[in-house]
Amino acid sequence: DATVPNVEGATPVMAQYIQLKAQYPDALLLMRMGDFYEIFFEDAVIASAALSLALTKRGQFQGKDIPLAGVPAHAADAYIAKLIRLGHRVAVCDQLEDPAEAKKRGSKAIVKRGITRVVTPGTLTEDTLLEERGANRLVALSSRGGVLALAAVELSTGDVEVLEVAPEQLGVQLSALRPSESLVADRLIQDEAIYPLLKMYGGVIQPQPASLCDPTSGEARLLKLYGVSTLDGFGAFSPAEVSALGLLAAYIDLTQAGKIPTLKPPARVISNNYLAIDAATRNSLEIDRTQQGKREGSLISALDMTVTSGGCRLLLNRLARPLYNPADINARLDTIEWLLPRRTLRETLRHLMRSLSDQARALSRLSLGRGSARDLCVITQALTISEALASQLNDARHQEHDDLAGDPPAIPQEIDGIISALVPSLPLSQLRDKLARAVVEEPPLKLSDGGFIRPGFNADLDEARALRDDSRQIILALEQRLAAETGIAIRIKFNNVLGYFIELSAKLAEQLQAQDTERQFIHRQSLANQVRFVTTELIELDGRIQRAAQQGQALELDIFEQLREEVRLAAAEIQGGHDAICALDVAVANACWAEDWDAVRPVVDDSLRLEISRGRHPVVAAALKSQGKPFTPNDVDLDASGAHAARLSLVTGPNMAGKSTYLRQNALLIIMAQAGLFVPAKSMHLGVVDKLFSRVGAGDDLAQGRSTFMMEMVETAAILTQASERSFIILDEIGRGTATYDGLAIAWASAENLHEVIKARTLFATHYHELSRLEERMKHLNNLSLTAHEHNGELIFLHEARKGSADRSYGVQVARLAGMPPAVVSRARDILTRLEEENQTQLKLDDLPLFSASRTPEPASFAPSKVETMLRSVNPDDLSPKEALELIYNLHKLL
Ligand code: ADP
Repeated sequence: DATVPNVEGATPVMAQYIQLKAQYPDALLLMRMGDFYEIFFEDAVIASAALSLALTKRGQFQGKDIPLAGVPAHAADAYIAKLIRLGHRVAVCDQLEDPAEAKKRGSKAIVKRGITRVVTPGTLTEDTLLEERGANRLVALSSRGGVLALAAVELSTGDVEVLEVAPEQLGVQLSALRPSESLVADRLIQDEAIYPLLKMYGGVIQPQPASLCDPTSGEARLLKLYGVSTLDGFGAFSPAEVSALGLLAAYIDLTQAGKIPTLKPPARVISNNYLAIDAATRNSLEIDRTQQGKREGSLISALDMTVTSGGCRLLLNRLARPLYNPADINARLDTIEWLLPRRTLRETLRHLMRSLSDQARALSRLSLGRGSARDLCVITQALTISEALASQLNDARHQEHDDLAGDPPAIPQEIDGIISALVPSLPLSQLRDKLARAVVEEPPLKLSDGGFIRPGFNADLDEARALRDDSRQIILALEQRLAAETGIAIRIKFNNVLGYFIELSAKLAEQLQAQDTERQFIHRQSLANQVRFVTTELIELDGRIQRAAQQGQALELDIFEQLREEVRLAAAEIQGGHDAICALDVAVANACWAEDWDAVRPVVDDSLRLEISRGRHPVVAAALKSQGKPFTPNDVDLDASGAHAARLSLVTGPNMAGKSTYLRQNALLIIMAQAGLFVPAKSMHLGVVDKLFSRVGAGDDLAQGRSTFMMEMVETAAILTQASERSFIILDEIGRGTATYDGLAIAWASAENLHEVIKARTLFATHYHELSRLEERMKHLNNLSLTAHEHNGELIFLHEARKGSADRSYGVQVARLAGMPPAVVSRARDILTRLEEENQTQLKLDDLPLFSASRTPEPASFAPSKVETMLRSVNPDDLSPKEALELIYNLHKLL
């Protein structure tokens, strides 16, 4: 019930525009007019500014000029991509009939036009518009009865996920999904706890009216989308989940203009099956991009040796959402272990996979009724390669069987699954053969160019083509015959306006007309030096040729559509094969990476251990290696149960010694291990982690208007309230953002709480050397230090984590390294010596009672009161009664 716009006084085309625009008020409307997409009114003003287009005008509407901008149709994709990047939605309006058809209805009739799709960031399918190696997700957030649900779809792979989220987990989930676009129930946008997260991780936000969030109508839309009569076959979904999925369905319907993509059934994500990584941690660990937003320097860029874009996307997904269940993790590790020694096999597989184009995206275009003959080729090629991959894997399996000549060796479960998904069913292999027979090897980009169906595939098409080609022969023959008959060198030419015609110089034309007594040559056109004629025979021939060409083109399009439909019907199986290739690519890539970097299989179980021997930071080690520098491997040994090792290691050491590198390295290795990847270490034993927390460095968050210290406290608070005994925590320099005593007090209290109450495996880096004395008082805490040596006045960092605390901070030396003027450095040295001698600021922290959960800590008295000092200074046995009375009077005065 969109409002019916007033089109009075508008030209027919403008009226058509205004009516279409009324259906899509939130999108910029691009309307196809001949070779251009034209943009009118307010949209024209916005688009001309965004795309630097000339803004002109076209006629008037209701007494005002109509602003106009336009882009050439052949370059439209690039312009649309730019508008999308700027956060706009674009409604594309195309001509639904040949303009010639409209002409037939009358000279005033206008071409039928309609919206063929709405392009939005989360629903792109065009290769030219997509980032090749990233996911492109559309997410919907809704709530029902106080339950919050999140649904996500990736149109290009057909993956749909849905999950319920606790509000405090929303950041974790959104940052894992990294949507390009989020549909959010109006009501939730107003929620102060939700909006900041959406703004940070949600991509472009599209508010959705309450009427679209209703689960009942949502269910109806889902049934239509999946073409089923009940959702029960997919599992049980809560009303909140159905509401969120329903939002996705409505938006897909709107943006794809009713065309239905092939989607997999919604998979319910059980958050407990995954390692939870909160948003701040994800950012600070730079998993898929650095804090500056670059891929270079992130974990994925160091690890990624995949050769297909689908494989790369899967690796990203696995790192974004590592597993929690040791059995699932070990299943992935089994595959890599099996591939590792099979180097030749790996190379063959990689070689085969490298030649694949982006199959998933080709498939999604085809099932949306878009795509081209090239997409069909991509599918054919992918199916052929799938079979080759499967046979390589099978050969490897059997070869081993022969070698061992005993029991058939166990093949990893995942490989087994991959093989069965890659071997096509009979109908699919028939389809593949048919596609191979049908489509030429290098089809033209555009369908309208024609010529993409092979000769011999369709008899009617061959006939139409023969006719077309024959006619060309006949034209040639005609040319020769006319030349012989008239004795004039007749040339037959072709253009789009006249079709075939005879062209002669003015002089020859005169000669021809003089001898043409039968008026065989009909005059068509006179140019400056040329005159053009036709003959009835030529007109007839021209018609035949054009009809044959048109018929051929129509036939080709028909065949294309039939093939596309067959592909669409087989989409689920093709997708299954594609998923298998992605999984294979990830496993092969990690095996190759493991070989290059000497990585090992982590032992993953449900203990509470974290024991790494000679671990390396995958990104820093790679960066140093490229500079020809070595990386110093380091160990870690923690046990939350406290049985085998400390549960908390306090890490001290001067600036630049490698503290944060050490902390992050251990967190990254946990992520890799739980993602099911080999890790850069000599050995690793990991009891699975449920939640990973990192509070590292003072990442300024000025944009959010919170001070660094506030930010730090917010993040630390989140850790202290959410971590469990199964969690892993890295804390770097907490308390640094405030005055020394405050900071020390906060760091001290946090360390105690982690040790006594939370009991999680923790690495705690601090520059408060005072804290190292906690080791004497806390059973499950130990000191580690990354030290430096001063040698001939030079500071040498060893980057080696050793037992014990750092003795000095070398701050002054670091200042010198940083290029501080020598005079300042030497003055700082003097002041430091003086301060160390005075040593008056030494706190009496050893006297503090230990923090415990059951007891509110007693107020810490950092300095003794005057009453206390006075009392301590006397010995009661030495006092006379009179002196004692005097003391009481004096003490009273101090109150
Ligand atoms: P801190 O946190 O103690 O100030 P960083 O972890 O930032 O120190 O490390 C400072 C620099 O030292 C890094 O940029 C890196 O180049 C180098 N470094 C850190 N750890 C190692 C290591 N284990 N081996 C070699 N170089 C390292």
